[in-house]
Amino acid sequence: MNSYYFPQFIVNLTILIKAYFLISLFYFMNFKFFIHYGLHFVVPFFIAFLFFRKQWKTVYLIFLLSMLVDLDHLLANPIFDKNRCSINFHPLHSYIAIAIYFIGLFFKKTRILCFALLFHMLTDFIDCYL
Ligand SMILES: [Zn+2]
Repeated sequence: MNSYYFPQFIVNLTILIKAYFLISLFYFMNFKFFIHYGLHFVVPFFIAFLFFRKQWKTVYLIFLLSMLVDLDHLLANPIFDKNRCSINFHPLHSYIAIAIYFIGLFFKKTRILCFALLFHMLTDFIDCYL
């Protein structure tokens, strides 16, 4: 890594974040959308980058893949209802599922995945109160 790489990376990141803010604000004008997708995409990036510096790409990928739990929405009718709280409505968002994710924290192999899933649940939970 040359010395120029790191600052340039930060500059690129800042531009990316600014673009994200602007797009969210002007296209969607929706605070809830902004918070929700920020927590789904932007915050995991920082968690991965700050706490798992060496394998941040893998960790970020696990966070993104953890969003597959939203496939359980396909079982619901309607599939998407913005006024519905996902928590304890969909099978993979049930209290039982959350308990299983919590137990998974105690095992090294499932820890990051379960942490990502719990973070997903937290995001969806916050959403219920916005
Ligand atoms: Zn969800």
